[in-house]
Amino acid sequence: MTKQDDLEQNANTSYFNLPPLDISIAFPQATPASIFPPCASDYYQLDDLVTPEEQAIRMKVRACMEQEIAPIMTEYWEKAKFPFHVIPKLGALRIAGGTIKGYGCPGLSITGSALATAEVARVDASCSTFILVHSSLAMLTIAFCGSEAQKQKYLPSLAQLKTVGCWALTEPDNGSDASALNTTATKVEGGWILKGQKRWIGNSTFADLLVVFARNTTTNQINGFIVKKDTPGLTATKIENKIGLRIVQNGDILLKNVFIADEDRLPGVDSFQDTNKILAVSRVMVAWQPIGISMGIYDMCHRYLKERKQFGAPLAAFQINQQKLVHMLGNVQAMILIGWRLCKLYESGKMTPGQASLGKSWITLKARETAAIGRELLGGNGILADFLVAKAFCDLEPIYTYEGTYDINSLITGREITGFASFKPAASSKRSRL
Ligand SMILES: Cc1cc2nc3c(=O)[nH]c(=O)nc-3n(C[C@H](O)[C@H](O)[C@H](O)COP(=O)(O)OP(=O)(O)OC[C@H]3O[C@@H](n4cnc5c(N)ncnc54)[C@H](O)[C@@H]3O)c2cc1C
Repeated sequence: MTKQDDLEQNANTSYFNLPPLDISIAFPQATPASIFPPCASDYYQLDDLVTPEEQAIRMKVRACMEQEIAPIMTEYWEKAKFPFHVIPKLGALRIAGGTIKGYGCPGLSITGSALATAEVARVDASCSTFILVHSSLAMLTIAFCGSEAQKQKYLPSLAQLKTVGCWALTEPDNGSDASALNTTATKVEGGWILKGQKRWIGNSTFADLLVVFARNTTTNQINGFIVKKDTPGLTATKIENKIGLRIVQNGDILLKNVFIADEDRLPGVDSFQDTNKILAVSRVMVAWQPIGISMGIYDMCHRYLKERKQFGAPLAAFQINQQKLVHMLGNVQAMILIGWRLCKLYESGKMTPGQASLGKSWITLKARETAAIGRELLGGNGILADFLVAKAFCDLEPIYTYEGTYDINSLITGREITGFASFKPAASSKRSRL
């Protein structure tokens, strides 16, 4: 998919050159999510817990997402296309690079960066994944593990979203067990030869720069490399037919004897453990995605139930519907408070991997519950992307799975609180007497 393709597709109003049916004409009683609902989900007033600067970022991102992204997101999601024309608008928000200081990056607090993530996700989860992969994975790896020269060369344009990054760890044979990865890096004169495959890599079909992890054939340890778009031997093919995050362009990557110069090896990645400090920050950010998504779902349901009438009364007047709304609202408040506390633990240097994993896994679980209730509250329109909830319902599925599945994050916390690692089945295969 090139930018030219994107422009050409925009010129067509629909697949058959007919104007798309306006949902507000077909269903006049409730406003679709292209006119985004006001925020009613911040019931416990999170702004009281954050600084004026963090509040300002929140409002700036909210305004941009509601005005620029909400009107177009359903169409792009439905077509599984990426809206390249919004990249400069997202770049102007100055949230890419998040907590990174210097090199043209915004140097936000982790709370400010988390709030920005949630505000993007509230309107569109795919946009938040696009930024998260670029910022909290690719850019952060360069900031934490890159040389001074690499930071100066790559971070300023990434921070402005003039260039886009992606982060390639997962492989076809190694998902949850990512540390067993098979892609190899072999030292040759002046550089390295990378060979292998990667799977699911967000933004990879158009990214200017790929952060790739590979096994050093001399040390058997995991190393990191910066691979530039169009390097000979590199191909990225879009994964089709996803049911969630359909705007995100996930790719299967093939690395066929790709030569990487010594200057593009990340000196700070000497083993798999070096990815942990990146994942610690990115898991906090990922935890704020389902918070934002759940806020959007609640906001949509809150407006819809007041607009839509049945049996001569607004849906909001029925006791069962009120109970469901309150259930969702309680979930959202608990998610926000856990997410906020994670940020504070991180800021004070006290956050443990188990705490980050519990935050990501529990918040995502509650978000799924919230989406399921929201979906039924909207009746038939609960399965239409136009009213946000069906789209958000689907978008939560990959988020439940990436950056460590619910199970793997539970096991990380389980190991921390019990002292027993239970990722691998017991080595003995002896049968017990039943
Ligand atoms: C939309 C999307 C975007 C993604 N983006 C990226 C990206 O940008 N970069 C990247 O590197 N990766 C990315 N990923 C990959 C993602 O991180 C993996 O999908 C995830 O780690 C799970 O791996 P898997 O899909 O191979 O599942 P598997 O590892 O095959 O797991 C299958 C099931 O088995 C369970 N399971 C596995 N091991 C255990 C165990 N020890 N104990 C108990 N249960 C277990 C899992 O919880 C899961 O339910 C993305 C994935 C998706 C879907």
